[in-house]
Amino acid sequence: MYSEISRLIEMLKSTGKPYNIEKIKSAYLYAKKVHDGQFRNSGEAYISHPIAVAEIVAGLELDTDSICAALLHDTIEDARDKLDLSDIKKHFGEAVALLVDGLTKIVQMQIEDKEEAHIENLRKMLLAMSKDIRVIFIKLCDRLHNMRTLAAKAEEKRRAIALETMYVYAPLAHRLGMQRIKQELENHSLIYLDPIGYEEVRRDIERKYGQNLNFIENVRASVEAKLSENNINFTLEGRIKTVYSIYRKMYNQNKSFDEIYDFYALRIIVKTELECYTVLGIIHEMFNSVPGRFKDYISTPKPNLYQSLHTTVIGRGGIPFEVQIRTREMHNVAEYGIAAHWKYKSGERSKEEIDDKLSWIAKLIEADDNTRDPDEFMHSLKIDIFHDETFVFTPKGDVIALPLGSTTIDFAYAIHSAIGNKMIGAKINGMIVPIDKILQTGDIVEILTSPSAKGPSRDWLKIVKTGEARNKIRQWFKKEKRSENIVVGRNEIDRELRRFGRSYTEQQKHEIVTNVAKRLGIQEADDLYNTIGYGGLAVTKIIGKLRDEFDRVVKPEESEQLITDINQVKITKPKLQRFTGGVVVEGESGYMIKFAKCCNPLPGDDIVGFITRGYGVSIHKQDCPNFINRRSNPQNVERWLEAHWENEFVDQGDGSLYEARVQIHAENNIRLIADITTALAEMRVSILQISSQKRSEYSIIINLTIGCKNVSHYRSIVSKLKSIPSVYHIERGFS
Ligand code: MN
Repeated sequence: MYSEISRLIEMLKSTGKPYNIEKIKSAYLYAKKVHDGQFRNSGEAYISHPIAVAEIVAGLELDTDSICAALLHDTIEDARDKLDLSDIKKHFGEAVALLVDGLTKIVQMQIEDKEEAHIENLRKMLLAMSKDIRVIFIKLCDRLHNMRTLAAKAEEKRRAIALETMYVYAPLAHRLGMQRIKQELENHSLIYLDPIGYEEVRRDIERKYGQNLNFIENVRASVEAKLSENNINFTLEGRIKTVYSIYRKMYNQNKSFDEIYDFYALRIIVKTELECYTVLGIIHEMFNSVPGRFKDYISTPKPNLYQSLHTTVIGRGGIPFEVQIRTREMHNVAEYGIAAHWKYKSGERSKEEIDDKLSWIAKLIEADDNTRDPDEFMHSLKIDIFHDETFVFTPKGDVIALPLGSTTIDFAYAIHSAIGNKMIGAKINGMIVPIDKILQTGDIVEILTSPSAKGPSRDWLKIVKTGEARNKIRQWFKKEKRSENIVVGRNEIDRELRRFGRSYTEQQKHEIVTNVAKRLGIQEADDLYNTIGYGGLAVTKIIGKLRDEFDRVVKPEESEQLITDINQVKITKPKLQRFTGGVVVEGESGYMIKFAKCCNPLPGDDIVGFITRGYGVSIHKQDCPNFINRRSNPQNVERWLEAHWENEFVDQGDGSLYEARVQIHAENNIRLIADITTALAEMRVSILQISSQKRSEYSIIINLTIGCKNVSHYRSIVSKLKSIPSVYHIERGFS
């Protein structure tokens, strides 16, 4: 009665694990009844397929429920009218029913001939959607058996199935580290995708092995002898390259068969990691190694946990061959991937023995650390591999993969930067949502755009999750908003500089920022402001450099010193009286008054006072950034005092002057300085300080500090300076 599954049962018994053979037998009977009267293309009874799949699953030493699910995997699909899942659940329990359900759903997912990017997403989706990793294991076994028997299928179907296997299932097996299944899937696929190429390579391999039988045997024998001599326990495998792996090398690297380097390979399996390195040493002693071909995947495992030492050496007659060295455990992981861990967990070894290097997998199952029941463990082993990704659909049904926590803005930029830049809103599953809405796997996302959209907002930089979206938004700002960026960047740098405590002039600031820019390889201060403004560089990243240059440029003892390179200008220092009586400050009298260097208030300006430590009250303009930015600081709020000029428009008559700063942007010509000094001399305005700064070959900035009576005096000076032909712009203060 059970003769059809006698081999399966033998396999299970030989593992020595506590399989529930009765349950497996009844799953077999159940499946046999459902598939009764069905035949495969080969003419065999259909039940032969689920049995074969169950045998492959048994080879992975998966649990009882997995074997049952393998036997039952096609029952729902093939007999949908006659039974449903609840019947399976009634007979075999919920776990088996869920596995069969998962397997049925995968069949229903139609994987068509799509672009490669979409195939990758489908692959991930497949994983993410099957809640239990055993579904994938069984599905891969199912596909493997279908590939082994593909020849019986109608010819037009073979290619489509082979293509799907090559693009979806083989990479999936690779991802899970299931090398053996992956290689067999690839080899079978190749037979149908390029029958001629497959046959050529296969014959070449036969020929080459035939020709060099002696070489291979000699290498084997000498390695075996040497390892035994060193008292190493080992297993040696030769001939491990598959047709597909050679084929892929030839076509990827456009080489002829004879140019394939690592055609021969030996695999040496030893007991301990230390022995791996010992064996490596012995191999390198015996043969010359090919430089650059040694790879230590033991200390640095591949992402799918593959571990091994690889080296290529030259044998007698100059024939190169590859040697792979690994422990038995590494070998099992290499062949069976995550499924191998299942083996360890289910009783063969204690948890403590699990190599540290497997901690990645251990992490997957952390929640189950206290359960020793293997069935329970495997049941709750959820697919966590893509736990950090979200899969959503475009309205057309394409799958887009985004990091967990991505928003509709990320989605828009993932489609195209033009979509993101014209985005005005979004819909999820047909409903309008806020643009910062976080996407969930399975959402259908539609981006609403308008040709008149103003473009991204700077706030979006804080909302988006993906680097792609962030970069595209920055690119937009970089391109579209230079002048705005410069203002934003300037404000951010100002905020940092002000933290340094000492006051500084605009001239000094310009020097500081220019120096920092140079150190960063950025041309000019404005370019640095721009970069910070569009978010290309965080201001926090340059604080150290700013501080450094600040200390260099703004030296406390030199704060009054003239910074100029214009020698021909004679500076006259008139008596500059600090006219404290000109200002009225609220509250008590008797404050010592000081005019703030940052904004140099003139009579006529709206002003405010600030109680400084040890200096009395310093007077700022009300539009001074120092006041604007610090007024609301709770620590200082009591130190700001109301202030006004006693008589702001009256020339004090005693020659009292205030420092005023004028920044002149002008065309750089030889007469400029002469014109400026002449104009000032005519107005009897004294120059306290002058400096120039070349912006380009044609343009220059002159920073002037002059003695000035009040705001109206200042205005008349400026209008006089503006009448100089080469002057095109004047600003108060050195900004
Ligand atoms: Mn099947």
